[in-house]
Amino acid sequence: MARPLGAVRLKRTNSITLIIGAATFIFIFFFFFFSPSSQTVNQSTQNSAKRSSKGIPAKAPPVTVYNLNNVTITNDPVTHRESILILTPMTRFYQEYWNNLMKLSYPHELITLGFILPKTKEGNAATAALQKQVIKTQKGPEKDRFQGVTILRQDFDPVLSSQDESVRHKLEHQKARRAVMAKARNSLLFTTLGASTSWVLWLDADIVETPPTLIQDLALHDKPIIAPNCFQRFINPETGKLDERGYDFNNWQDSETAQKLAAEMGPDDVLFEGYAEMATYRTLMARVSDGGDIHTEMPIDGVGGTTLLVKADVHRDGAMFPPFAFYHLIETEGFAKMAKRLGWQATGLPNYKVYHYNE
Ligand code: GDP
Ligand code: MN
Repeated sequence: MARPLGAVRLKRTNSITLIIGAATFIFIFFFFFFSPSSQTVNQSTQNSAKRSSKGIPAKAPPVTVYNLNNVTITNDPVTHRESILILTPMTRFYQEYWNNLMKLSYPHELITLGFILPKTKEGNAATAALQKQVIKTQKGPEKDRFQGVTILRQDFDPVLSSQDESVRHKLEHQKARRAVMAKARNSLLFTTLGASTSWVLWLDADIVETPPTLIQDLALHDKPIIAPNCFQRFINPETGKLDERGYDFNNWQDSETAQKLAAEMGPDDVLFEGYAEMATYRTLMARVSDGGDIHTEMPIDGVGGTTLLVKADVHRDGAMFPPFAFYHLIETEGFAKMAKRLGWQATGLPNYKVYHYNE
């Protein structure tokens, strides 16, 4: 009884060994004769779609040469068909912002849009609302369509859970808040600036009213960096009537007081504008407007980002938004300083107004 069992066991062992042996042989056979060389592996993984079934190498990936000298940046960008990139960091979606954007008379086929939104509940809602409008526009009449749209979700958290004006404007929140906004602007800029971009228009998500000719009007000045005056409409409680007031205090001319304050600060300290605790006595463009000629210019040392037209060359030279104390300035104000160190002067238009949403 023991033998037949043993014989059976032997037989089973044999067939298992045979199967394993055959499988190993087949594996080795295929490994040696059919496995591609490492060179082909590289090509096939990178370019598999372009390989013919006969294994003939595909066309090499294209090399594109751009001559940046041919990208014109002139005071008549429509005639020269210059591409403009409109960049908007966004925490909330305002329909008025989109409506105003749609009304811009600069040819939409020369405009590329870029957005960056935080990955918060509020940011998700804004992304959904934005996407809805983008789809509607890009499927709509051809003259309304933009050249392209990029929507980025930022990979770092905002500092404040509440974006309400009373909370976000507290002085103690400014350094961290402005640092995050600087990073958002940099991420947006560095992922969207293209080889054929002539101009970058920074336009905040809560800018709800500008002249339709905004881009042409600002470009006409032929300045490397130019800011209109950002105002806000409100009901004046004293008169009960619709009135307006300066909003963006980051467009300013420097003062000796501010310079002195900065000189006494620690290396990581930042000056903020518009706070009584830190009176700078700078000349604020928001206070300079006199209702005169809309093309009146003034040189400025600090800029805000609410509405700001920048020649793409300024950014290409390396001017970005420092998320740290740069000459005791941060974000857009730091950007103006960095641009200045690169040889580019900012200009303000005190009488050319754009309007910020009134929460
Ligand atoms: P204020 O007008 O000076 O009070 O500044 P805002 O809070 O309006 O911010 C300026 C712009 O940056 C607006 O377009 C905001 O939607 C946007 N923004 C503010 N905080 C963040 C943020 O954490 N992430 C992103 N992506 N955008 C932000
Ligand atoms: Mn704002």
